[in-house]
Amino acid sequence: MLDERISSRIAAGEVVERPSSIVKELIENSLDAGADHIEIELEEGGKKSIKISDNGEGIDRDEIALAFERHATSKIYEFDDIFSICSFGFRGEALPSIASISKVEMLSKRKDALYGTRAIVEGGEIKEIAEAGCPSGTSIHVRDIFYTTPVRRQFLKKESTEQAHCLDYITRLALCNTNCGIKVAANKKTVLNIPRAKDMSERISFVFGREFIKNTLLVDGKRGDASVRGLISKPGFTKSNTKGMLYYINGRFVRDGFLNHAIMTAYRGMIEARRYPSVVLYVDMPTRDVDVNVHPTKMEVRFKTPRDIYSLLVDSMVESLADTGPIAEKDYFKVPSAAGRETNLYKGRVEEAIKRYTISRDTKRGVVGDTLPIFEKDNKREERVSFSSLRYLEQIDNTYLVFSAPDRMVIMDQHAAHERVLYERLKKMSSGGHEQCQRLLIPEILDLQPGNYVLFLEKIAVLTDAGFEVEPYGENTIIIKSLPAMLAAVDLRALITDLIEEFSQTGKTGNTGEAKEKIYALMACKGAVKARQRLTNQEVERLCRDLDSAPFAATCPHGRPLFVTLDISDMERMFKRR
Ligand code: ADP
Ligand code: MG
Repeated sequence: MLDERISSRIAAGEVVERPSSIVKELIENSLDAGADHIEIELEEGGKKSIKISDNGEGIDRDEIALAFERHATSKIYEFDDIFSICSFGFRGEALPSIASISKVEMLSKRKDALYGTRAIVEGGEIKEIAEAGCPSGTSIHVRDIFYTTPVRRQFLKKESTEQAHCLDYITRLALCNTNCGIKVAANKKTVLNIPRAKDMSERISFVFGREFIKNTLLVDGKRGDASVRGLISKPGFTKSNTKGMLYYINGRFVRDGFLNHAIMTAYRGMIEARRYPSVVLYVDMPTRDVDVNVHPTKMEVRFKTPRDIYSLLVDSMVESLADTGPIAEKDYFKVPSAAGRETNLYKGRVEEAIKRYTISRDTKRGVVGDTLPIFEKDNKREERVSFSSLRYLEQIDNTYLVFSAPDRMVIMDQHAAHERVLYERLKKMSSGGHEQCQRLLIPEILDLQPGNYVLFLEKIAVLTDAGFEVEPYGENTIIIKSLPAMLAAVDLRALITDLIEEFSQTGKTGNTGEAKEKIYALMACKGAVKARQRLTNQEVERLCRDLDSAPFAATCPHGRPLFVTLDISDMERMFKRR
């Protein structure tokens, strides 16, 4: 038998991964207690301390010790209660888990009580329970996270990363609890102040900005007892990952490969490969039709009739998307309008998707990721090629450039090739080279989410090094005044969104050289000609000259080949002459 202290620390590992997990559990407790105002104070991204105060129902003095006992909850009585649950919590694990790995001070008072109670719990041991004066509600102060498990402490990332995780959770919870005001301070400075809102769209527009609302469509669908409401982005507004896909099942934020798949199915044919929409969807169904007891952090759920939920989502989204008409995307992308699409076109795919989902779920891999094309790297030839000396023949599928020479044929991927050219130029520029800059006639002003704003400011030098003129411009807002001329055609908004995603990932590596390269690769990708874009002969010539003057490389910055060569021996082999 494991000692109780050890087993509780092991169990804590499932609930508390990092400061943001504590923030999530404590806010959920406050919401469960009926609070309509919550204040959160973070220090060092929550690594040093997290304080959460609410105006909820409070805890009775003689139950305060119990709240820190493992499996003590006031929310269910029998197992079957979890099928009619309306609260976030029911496992009775959060407080004991948090207390076993940190130092906790709790103050709580019920409205009708004369005095409140103070409880001090350190490393899982109750040190003090005493009468105390305090306002109605509960406040919990958590310090020295992971002090009992120093190895886990080492896994924490730097302040801005942890803080961004906390703000992520807070905004997610804010998006489905509109009648609760939430105020967040980081290192004593207010970073987020979300007032009570009258409805979802008021809340969404406060959290994501009015810009987001302008580029979204309303979704409203019903099937039997289940319904879905929310906002989804127009096809032209996409991100490089699935982080903007938020959905709530009965008010609970979940992550689910199956629902991701439903969303991607609705957008099929409307957005580029490897781009993802932003969605905020609220799915409501009878509590008996969904099992929330699948995972300790309750981020996964299981549906009784997954097929129905899948088609409810796809149908409702397809219906909204059909209203968009032709898409004002970059003109060289022929994006089919949804108007003519049959809504039941996807139905045959549902069965297949469910099957694939069941398998992929077992192997813990996301469905969306599985369907991505994999490019095999052809590293057969790395010899230097002079592209300008080749004879340009044809552009195939408006994507591949075909060249010939007396002894070979060369096929080039125009996007990959241009990407490499831009990447090398950006790199050169950051090490002191000269490139033309273009001033924007109307500077671009962008509102960022608070967590993203912090990340962005931290990495702003990478952009200025590359020739951007960009500055902070008031609270959570930046202004872009000029940019390298070679990137003049990019969609700045999309570029910044993607850069922030990249920052939040490279933040973890901490290696600035490597981080910079990734960022330049991203900019190059955004600035390069796309596939399916008709190029003139002059443009092809220019591309070849640029390639010849760049340091030679056989692959694009992401590792895909720039070109393939078929030489005489390849041809002989193909025609079985050898
Ligand atoms: P659970 O939320 O699963 O019940 P927790 O460990 O998170 O388990 O909390 C244990 C109990 O402590 C809750 O069931 C609730 O009764 C009480 N509690 C925790 N936080 C608060 C709060 N902020 N306000 C009122 N009661 C709370
Ligand atoms: Mg709880």
